[in-house]
Amino acid sequence: MSKITFSRGGVHPHDNKLARECRIEVLPLPPVMYVSMAQHLGAPAKPIVAPGDFVKAGQVIAEPGGFISAFVHSPVSGTVKSVAPRKDLAGNPVMHVEIAVEGDVWMDGIDLSDTLVTALPEDRDAVLAKIKECGIVGLGGATFPTHVKLAPPPGKTAECLIINGTECEPFLTSDYRIMVERPREILVGAAIMQNVLGGCRCVIGIEENKPEAIAIMKKAIKELGYEKRMKVAVLKKRYPQGGEKQLIDAVMRRQVRSGGLPIDVGAVVQNAGTALAVYEAVQKNKPLVTNVLTVTGKSLPESRQHNYLFRIGMPLSYIIEQAGGAPEGAVKLVSGGPMMGKAVSNPDAATVKGSSSLLYLDAADTMRKSASSCIRCGRCADACPMGLEPFLLNRLAKVSDMDGLEANAVQDCIECGCCLYSCPANIPLLDNIRVAKGQVLGIIRARAAAKKQ
Ligand code: SF4
Ligand code: SF4
Repeated sequence: MSKITFSRGGVHPHDNKLARECRIEVLPLPPVMYVSMAQHLGAPAKPIVAPGDFVKAGQVIAEPGGFISAFVHSPVSGTVKSVAPRKDLAGNPVMHVEIAVEGDVWMDGIDLSDTLVTALPEDRDAVLAKIKECGIVGLGGATFPTHVKLAPPPGKTAECLIINGTECEPFLTSDYRIMVERPREILVGAAIMQNVLGGCRCVIGIEENKPEAIAIMKKAIKELGYEKRMKVAVLKKRYPQGGEKQLIDAVMRRQVRSGGLPIDVGAVVQNAGTALAVYEAVQKNKPLVTNVLTVTGKSLPESRQHNYLFRIGMPLSYIIEQAGGAPEGAVKLVSGGPMMGKAVSNPDAATVKGSSSLLYLDAADTMRKSASSCIRCGRCADACPMGLEPFLLNRLAKVSDMDGLEANAVQDCIECGCCLYSCPANIPLLDNIRVAKGQVLGIIRARAAAKKQ
């Protein structure tokens, strides 16, 4: 089996897929849900419900707030209690719709059965409209609205749709479980997107450490008669193999230039979870109100590792409680993986469309020795998959040299953490570079806005 990978940088952390064998379990409904209006990239959605309204599961409760934005639906049936700011994961105030759960009544026309629907719709515009109406966003982390990504701008053509099944972040197993348990739905979703993009080729990229998923997806391609339209590519286990630009490099041997988009090189990348969501939207009329989340960590025994199907808007604290509470020895809770995840500073925050994991780190996982001076070993630069010089960016960030940071492409940083992982001096490279990147992006956007006026 030939294996492909990206051309520069990367690291090899232990994959720690401790919840790999745990089947997806459906979480029961909590008494109250909190649905965020800012759970996608772009403008926050605008609520269209008010306190006292009764809503059904799957009903639109917020409309897109701009071109890059998404519809938001109620994940449950019940009464709207409030429409008000509430703290998100990082403790920032974000508008939420609070719903007191009553029964589990869904909107008419949503097919919740397991029946596989394989007949592919032909009307491209109707499919794109359905994906938009159902609030589908990228579930690989970026949460970019899917209908926008599937409509390349004039002059650009999709040559390859890449379905990202790499799940290269250590510990995470939610994508793995959907590939093992719902392979045909993912493939039909991929075929729908492939047709929308004009029938380009389609490659499903899976890392070599998931042999069962590779075998199951290959078998499902045969069962569906899709051999001529798509294939599985086996990727080497190497972090960040699932980064959009790294995946394009591995599969197409093309590089997205600084500031460019995948479509500039003919690529569209969609996560395996997004393909499943597209299937559910187009074939079953089901909006994006559920996702799969891994609860894991070395301090949890095997019996307490989980992959949960959750309704989007469940409070994290409710999921923590359902999973038996924080284990002994855990010192930190992270949403996402250990490389790119964010520390949970507010466990009462609600889950969002992009929630993928709750990871308990123990003392050994988090033990960071104090930072010493840079010894100019160059390991951070060797590890950077974007070809950046993290030691230099760190130095420029310390003196707030914005021109120097932009000239050295800090805006291209994908925040993968490979530099931090490699640094023998334990310098908090990622934290410093992330802040500097945010500042430089702000300057670039302001400049672009001023140019337009
Ligand atoms: S976090 Fe940024 S600078 Fe560091 S290795 Fe990743 S892309 Fe390079
Ligand atoms: S890895 Fe750390 S010590 Fe080595 S050059 Fe980079 S910042 Fe300096």
